[in-house]
Amino acid sequence: MPEPVRRALTIVSACLAGTPCRYDGRAKPDAEIVAAARRGEVVPLCAEVAGGLSTPRPPAEIRGGDGADVLAGRARVVTDAGDDVTAAFVAGAREVADRAVGLGASHAVLQERSPSCGCGRIYDGGFTGTLVPGDGVTAAALRERGITIEARRGASG
Ligand code: SF4
Repeated sequence: MPEPVRRALTIVSACLAGTPCRYDGRAKPDAEIVAAARRGEVVPLCAEVAGGLSTPRPPAEIRGGDGADVLAGRARVVTDAGDDVTAAFVAGAREVADRAVGLGASHAVLQERSPSCGCGRIYDGGFTGTLVPGDGVTAAALRERGITIEARRGASG
């Protein structure tokens, strides 16, 4: 008997699929991703919730590097009040990466600019809206595991 063909899965940022899991308690829905999630074609995951953070929660940014630096212990994730939330961000990123690998995912579509899901551009840690090159912590963890990532900007919702 031949092995059944296993379709490569795509994981998506849960907020892009319409889950109100952002720091401000809102979603950032993308119509195409919401529809794909409803059809069961993509798997929505949220690293910050997986890491044990509540919703809503204080905004956070990476200070001293990008997500790869956070995973390597060279940079931190801090809230706008200066609280260190690095451990929760790393735990959530590892959890999402483990689940993605376990599901056989090969690709991820992620909410842009987030300190977790951002791909290619993130805020600089100064809470001034300044963008710098780099990935969020979850995006970096997924790249480490060989999963390709793509940034998407959902609508304000
Ligand atoms: S950007 Fe990522 S970590 Fe942030 S709310 Fe959306 S899914 Fe969760």
